[in-house]
Amino acid sequence: MDEIKNALKEICKDTVENFPLSYITGFRTGGPARFFVSPSDIEEIKKILYVCRRYNLPLLVIGRGTNILISDKGFDGVVISTKNLNKIKVENNNIYCQAGVLLSTILKTCIERSLKGLEFLSGIPGTAGGAIMSNAGLKKEWISERIESVDVVSLLDIKEQKLPKEGINFGYRTGGLEGYLIAGALFRLEKGKTEEIKMAIADYMKKRIETQPLEYPSAGSVFKNPPGLFAGMLIENCGLKGFSAGGASISDKHANFIINKGNASSEDIYKIICKVKEEVKRVYNIELETEIKIIGSFGG
Ligand SMILES: Cc1cc2nc3c(=O)[nH]c(=O)nc-3n(C[C@H](O)[C@H](O)[C@H](O)COP(=O)(O)OP(=O)(O)OC[C@H]3O[C@@H](n4cnc5c(N)ncnc54)[C@H](O)[C@@H]3O)c2cc1C
Repeated sequence: MDEIKNALKEICKDTVENFPLSYITGFRTGGPARFFVSPSDIEEIKKILYVCRRYNLPLLVIGRGTNILISDKGFDGVVISTKNLNKIKVENNNIYCQAGVLLSTILKTCIERSLKGLEFLSGIPGTAGGAIMSNAGLKKEWISERIESVDVVSLLDIKEQKLPKEGINFGYRTGGLEGYLIAGALFRLEKGKTEEIKMAIADYMKKRIETQPLEYPSAGSVFKNPPGLFAGMLIENCGLKGFSAGGASISDKHANFIINKGNASSEDIYKIICKVKEEVKRVYNIELETEIKIIGSFGG
């Protein structure tokens, strides 16, 4: 154990053992990470991946944790946090950022440099890496539309690559990048008018405040929309708004949100997910698929 810790500390001084993941997840739940490491460049990422390989340790990459449910038992391996991959630069009308840059920071830069094209990301609380991984966005606007290329490290051979957008299989809530760690990305934007960009960002945020329970910890929409339908509507029609398990509850404001009312465990949230799937299957014969990533073991 000490040998692994020392190897990781040699790469990242601030490596933490038994780090409570509830500190950083959107739901504010989740048990400890055996090792929590925060690299700041590709070289450090590669060295960490070699340590994982040498000691046969499972790996989890985490951005802001706003699209993830982690077991209360935690993660018995290495969690790579992208929080120190936080550099951003503007070249002509393009923005290059490392994976851990928050979407809100990208939008702030867009306002400062009068760049338009990503306003619809307003109010999505994650990082660039997390957003690319799930092709985050709204019903008709996705982050992939503005991507020029993505810098990745392959988890298979620990090699870095620049993937042009055309080589990436983006789809509805999928970046098609499983098997890669995203290190950074280049966004292609357009020159716009600062006031108009600011107004659009504020408008998107206003709609969110009106329709989403932002006052509670959550991971946004829990289920993907089945083709031509809305998961939230199906859940509401099953009479599940307000349904609770322990400290977790289906939001009264938005039925596709599960909220932590203060002392929820990941197990409570998981129970609600199972109940929703069961009811929607029973009433509509539709198998809902989760949009959030579920990590670790649940149920006893
Ligand atoms: C209030 C609220 C509103 C939301 N609204 C929206 C919305 O409108 N649209 C939308 O699409 N989403 C929405 N979300 C979900 C979430 O914020 C986005 O999906 C966000 O982009 C996730 O980023 P993250 O950094 O938090 O990812 P995380 O939750 O940290 O990770 C998500 C997944 O991506 C992987 N991952 C993260 N970073 C990397 C990386 N660098 N390399 C490889 N894998 C990585 C993780 O392993 C995990 O599987 C919302 C969430 C909340 C809480």
